[in-house]
Amino acid sequence: MGHFCVNCGAALVPRVIEGREVEACPRDSFVLWHDPKVSTAVVVEADGGIVLGRRSIEPGYGLWCLPGGFVNDDEDPALAAVRECREEISAPVELTGLIGVYHIAKTDAPSMIGIAYKGRLVDGARPAVGAEMLEVRVFPPNSLPPLAFPSHTRVMAEYVRSLAPAEAEGPRPDREAARRAARPSRAQAPTHPRQQR
Ligand SMILES: [Zn+2]
Repeated sequence: MGHFCVNCGAALVPRVIEGREVEACPRDSFVLWHDPKVSTAVVVEADGGIVLGRRSIEPGYGLWCLPGGFVNDDEDPALAAVRECREEISAPVELTGLIGVYHIAKTDAPSMIGIAYKGRLVDGARPAVGAEMLEVRVFPPNSLPPLAFPSHTRVMAEYVRSLAPAEAEGPRPDREAARRAARPSRAQAPTHPRQQR
């Protein structure tokens, strides 16, 4: 409510487009689409485990998280992920795979599309405290501290599952598809929206 056109300043009015009620400008073509924001998280493999940072800012001050952050409009998400690693854990990281793409539902802010990558420190690089971090450390993947964001917890669970020996599993694509189909959506779960990423 109470939004205005970014082109002409007119008060937006409700309009139904493709069955969805949106706010639109009565004078020109502007439509206030509520698109998700795109954010990355990277499981960075290092000697002895996974690199986590302890946050020096809200949300999640003092808690541990995966390096990552919002993707800028002019960035490829993979490059944004590498940039965030350079900023937050002060190390060059190369991405080695995609863990998954997730919807992170919010109620009082734009929801997010989280893109989780797997990566590793570039040869010889050591992580160090970067922007927005109090501390940076390597943890064994099976004994991580509580993480600041449920989405990161979910990514780590997915990552740990992916470490299971392939021969113990069925054909991976089928197994993945069946598991996803069987799992209830977490998009409905009540959240503390500002505390999550
Ligand atoms: Zn307008």
